[in-house]
Amino acid sequence: MRLVHFVSRLLPLALLAVPVAAPAQTIDAARLERLKTEAAAMIDARAKMIQEGVDMLFSFSELGFQEHETKRYLTGILRDAGFAIQENVAGMPTGWVATWGTGKPVIALGSDIDGIPQSSQTPGITTHRPMVEGGPGHGEGHNTGMPLVVASAIVMKELMQRDRIPGTLKVWPGVAEELVSGKAFFVRAGVFADVDAVIFTHVSSGLSTSWGTRGGTGLVSVEYEFTGETAHAAGSPWSVRSALDAVELTNTAWNFRREHIRQAARIHYVIRDGGDQPNVVPRTASVWYYLRETTYQNIKELYDIGETIAKSAAAMTGTELSRIRILGSAWPQHFNRPIAEAMQKNIDRVGMPAWDEKDQAFARRLQQDMGSSNPRGLSTRVSPLQASVPDSENRGGGSDDIGDISWVVPTVTLRYPSNVGAGPGHHWSAGVASATPVAHKGAVAGAKVVAMTVLDMLASPPLLQAARTYFTDVQTRDQKYVSFLKDTDLPPIELNADRMARYKDALKANYYDPTRFRTYLEQLGIAYPPAP
Ligand SMILES: [Zn+2]
Repeated sequence: MRLVHFVSRLLPLALLAVPVAAPAQTIDAARLERLKTEAAAMIDARAKMIQEGVDMLFSFSELGFQEHETKRYLTGILRDAGFAIQENVAGMPTGWVATWGTGKPVIALGSDIDGIPQSSQTPGITTHRPMVEGGPGHGEGHNTGMPLVVASAIVMKELMQRDRIPGTLKVWPGVAEELVSGKAFFVRAGVFADVDAVIFTHVSSGLSTSWGTRGGTGLVSVEYEFTGETAHAAGSPWSVRSALDAVELTNTAWNFRREHIRQAARIHYVIRDGGDQPNVVPRTASVWYYLRETTYQNIKELYDIGETIAKSAAAMTGTELSRIRILGSAWPQHFNRPIAEAMQKNIDRVGMPAWDEKDQAFARRLQQDMGSSNPRGLSTRVSPLQASVPDSENRGGGSDDIGDISWVVPTVTLRYPSNVGAGPGHHWSAGVASATPVAHKGAVAGAKVVAMTVLDMLASPPLLQAARTYFTDVQTRDQKYVSFLKDTDLPPIELNADRMARYKDALKANYYDPTRFRTYLEQLGIAYPPAP
């Protein structure tokens, strides 16, 4: 990576505009148009495959680092389609990369796969009805992305094979995105070292893309582990020190500090280890923080404050700060302008799905039940290209670890309309639409945009040149990627293992069976839209 930056900086700009290697066969504008039309028709012909994938992944409801069924299902489809599967990528049992093709360009396609704890919800039902009480669910809609990506990869493979178009396709899953923990490890393992461009997809209620910095934040996910000593909590508490005291003082310090940091920052925590039982002074305790800000420098500053606070809490309580563990990171997202501009033309061409009256009635009902006084239903218009958000206008918000990838290779995110804008994110209501026709149709539209944008890149070496120039001369001119991971930080693959083990059997009883039922709603006997 570094060498490429170095060499491209030495080249005069005029040279950069010339394609490095001529394509084996040129794809002129008329042929590109025909290929795009064909790709869209081939995606439509796979609408059933997309629906099955969306419903299947929904029924698995797997949490971050425990996406084993999801992996088995998706890699099975890709292997059957002729992709080579690399497993256990970056030390993650659910991390994999599927590759097909030869030579340049190398285009990587991905989407997140994990669910949200305690967001179990029966699809199509607009009031809270968990499938499994207390269980995990797709309360963000991450079940919809990979079926879209896999369909577009297979269609592209067929077109490239048929027309002998050179290039390599890589398909990868966003493992444990809700823990912002998979992608920085993929980057460190070199998954994107030979990649020319990444197309990432994320569920939304609209069809859109953006370039430059997005609103929202990046973050570092960090756990502070303290060690004290046990003693009888009533008999001789004075003889030892409590690790839980250090956790509580860490949290108290942050809660006072909040007033004196920038308003775009977000800081939240959960206590992972709060001790064993009240009559034993806690020997170990730990607290897990997401420290969010809008720039790398500001995140690093929060990280440094956190370290000072944790060390001070240990000093105040006479305990030891035994470990600071980085569990994940998400750089602030920055997307590639030339690729986003090309993608926007495809968004305009594909348009929003043709929602029918049932879809609109369902969406309005969900919005109404979520408290909207003006239920608008589903959007019927695509969004215009969203430009870079200046930091002065960024008021913070969520993060996505696609940020880390976006700083090592030209990347765009396609937001596709598989959800209804109704309630808050990470909430049962965000999973209501995730295995309904809204999700299926939105994923089909997204798959078309992805395939068409891959075609643009294969047809036009100058587009990839321009993407690289933007990446080196604009995006990373003054800011280079520095991983938050220390060499000693390994993927926290043990996270969610207990939780998934607890719910796996109950979930299994509800896995989607496409050999018996046309859709998951049919299997569950749910009317669509719900009766008034
Ligand atoms: Zn997400």
